[in-house]
Amino acid sequence: TCNILWFRRDLRLEDNAALYRALKGEHPVLPLFIFDQNILDQLPKGDARVTFIYETIEKLKSALQKQGSDLLVKYGKPEKIWSEVLEEYEVKAVYTNHDYEPYARERDDQMAEFLTSEKIAFFTYKDQVIFEKNEILKADRTPYTVFTPYYKQWQAKLNSFYFKAYPTQKYFKNLFQTKHLPLPGLADMGFEKSTQQFPKLSYQSKLANYATERDFPALDSTTHIGLHLRFGTLSIRKAVADALENKSHVWLSELAWREFYMMILWHFPYSAFDSFKKQYDQIKWRNDETEFKAWCEGNTGYPIVDAGMRQLNETGWMHNRVRMIVASFLTKHLLIDWRWGEAYFAEKLLDYEMASNVGGWQWAASSGNDAAPYFRVFNPELQMKKFDPKFEYIKKWIPEFGTKKYAQPIVEHKFARERVLKVYKEALSNS
Ligand code: FAD
Repeated sequence: TCNILWFRRDLRLEDNAALYRALKGEHPVLPLFIFDQNILDQLPKGDARVTFIYETIEKLKSALQKQGSDLLVKYGKPEKIWSEVLEEYEVKAVYTNHDYEPYARERDDQMAEFLTSEKIAFFTYKDQVIFEKNEILKADRTPYTVFTPYYKQWQAKLNSFYFKAYPTQKYFKNLFQTKHLPLPGLADMGFEKSTQQFPKLSYQSKLANYATERDFPALDSTTHIGLHLRFGTLSIRKAVADALENKSHVWLSELAWREFYMMILWHFPYSAFDSFKKQYDQIKWRNDETEFKAWCEGNTGYPIVDAGMRQLNETGWMHNRVRMIVASFLTKHLLIDWRWGEAYFAEKLLDYEMASNVGGWQWAASSGNDAAPYFRVFNPELQMKKFDPKFEYIKKWIPEFGTKKYAQPIVEHKFARERVLKVYKEALSNS
């Protein structure tokens, strides 16, 4: 007899809400991870994130084995895997952490129904955010749709109760004891091991100067923790505690942006696919495939755009300031649908997070949660002069910068600016 802790995007033993609750339950706890075919089937076989997850699973397995337990790892569609697990083990209850993306919600609703029909309890907990869903609402109990007032309340509500760690290790003796369990190979699941470097979890030294340095891509002064927050190899409570300890309030507000977008996605799941402000779906995008290709490959002739895209293609990461510039350039200068850029980022970013990616793209396209009017069109030339004045970042990513080999600008800035303002105006006045 056992209870199951179902790991999804919370891949750590320390400070894990559902694991803590499970370990305090009545039965020994067997942790489970499913390599979900519904998700994996959509990914290219060299996807670096799958390698990251795989390596994390190996580490979890070995840590659990040291406790005389193990991680049960399965590959397949969750609905089928769960029937298998229930045949192999006598399961009394399943514990897991909330997951807010549309697919995950549907999966968990189905699981709840299935487990209930099998008379198995299904307990779920908040873990990946400090405040979720309905914890920060306007006075009339509706969700905020702009960040500033949301953040004001977020900060006012924050106290140590919300970010103290769950002391799971005190209860490891309640882990299910078992002989070693098998681990399917990456190749068995159709994937190749990626050689991509993954960011290390050593970010505290970046926090002191974050506020003054974060906008300069050449300084590389941000923490690169996105991937770890995405898969839960870092607890958000630990990150918030570190922000406060280092008095890094600007960084704290960035962590709150992440939650703001997750809250938006929860309340407005359509905004993952359609414009948050629906009238923006009237825009007549040009969607020129040749120009899209030039943007993807970093050959637009605008150095700050091209440097960013090449950084993304090579490393799976791009600096935030540059993400804003390339996204503005694609949607506004080239008039290409934000969904094309969103999908490209989703494929390439190691720290891809649906809520933040959709939020960031719609912010750039002006169709999302932003109080600023649509006529904000970044001037890539000025952005470069301001944020990379010595061309250090640009030279790092564009070796041919300043030579005849470097591409000519794909479109003239002034012309593009006038064009986008006209197209947006037309779309918005028609609706
Ligand atoms: P730091 O600057 O050190 O910040 C720490 C953490 O705070 C980040 O890891 C992230 O979790 C959170 N954070 C910081 N800025 C933001 C923000 N603006 N919105 C939401 N969360 C934030 N972030 C993602 O995590 N995944 C994405 O898929 C993603 N796509 C984006 C797409 C566009 C078009 C734009 C403009 C931004 C996007 N961002 C995304 C937000 C931001 O660019 C990244 O979180 C940040 O650059 C990651 O680098 P870092 O880990 O060094 O962040």
